[in-house]
Amino acid sequence: MEKPRVAFFDFASCEGCQLQVINLEEDLLKVLEAVDVVTFREAMKEHSDNYDIAFVEGAITRKSDEERLKGIRANAGVLVALGSCATLGGITCLKNFHDQEYVRKLVYGDKASHYETYPSRPLNAVVPVDFKIHGCPINRDEFAMVVKALLLGKNPEINNFPVCVECKMAENICVFEKGMTCMGPVTRAGCGACCVTEGSFCWGCRGLVDDPNADSQREVLATHGLSVQDILGSFRLYTGFSEVAK
Ligand code: SF4
Ligand code: SF4
Ligand code: SF4
Repeated sequence: MEKPRVAFFDFASCEGCQLQVINLEEDLLKVLEAVDVVTFREAMKEHSDNYDIAFVEGAITRKSDEERLKGIRANAGVLVALGSCATLGGITCLKNFHDQEYVRKLVYGDKASHYETYPSRPLNAVVPVDFKIHGCPINRDEFAMVVKALLLGKNPEINNFPVCVECKMAENICVFEKGMTCMGPVTRAGCGACCVTEGSFCWGCRGLVDDPNADSQREVLATHGLSVQDILGSFRLYTGFSEVAK
């Protein structure tokens, strides 16, 4: 039986999510043995426009990106956004809070006129996206789960509960108790609350749960005199494109 043909693409990004795939460990490599990788600029020089599944990393940061992304969408049976730049616009959306001409000159100096730019956006602001693998960077286990599900013809089950649940399971002391602020009550779980476990707090890299205003974890915020809107206003690192953060 012919293996599904898989291609990887990138737009504006640090390429850290593709690196997570390249650094796959043995069991995950077995997953990739079940597919034919036909395009993966970061890992191989071959290229093909004939593929079934496209994994796309990065945000759309200029008008000319749109045509390329639409071409990928037209070729792919399934398009998966890879990492928070692709799923949310992510860190690249920080520039959206500044004048675009100002940031263009800041980055490119006297060569600015040679480079186009426009407000950053996630892939689904330009084309339909079938599935999202969240995180900055993505979690390799979650990537493997999504690939396995797609190979079985199933929809991958992406978590839709907050990081606080995993944080409590990890028996962390809540950072609010230490006078810090945290995006955990409104952020989609799947990372095991690793940042809190490592001594920091959640920055919200996996994006918001589907309805943060309705989630019971808002009680964590209320206990500390905060609302969902207060916390979204404090964190724009990853959720800048989201209307709810504006
Ligand atoms: S989501 Fe994070 S790790 Fe992945 S490409 Fe964007 S900045 Fe890099
Ligand atoms: S608010 Fe942050 S530190 Fe507190 S339980 Fe939730 S994820 Fe953990
Ligand atoms: S704890 Fe928050 S910032 Fe850290 S990986 Fe998880 S979702 Fe991302």
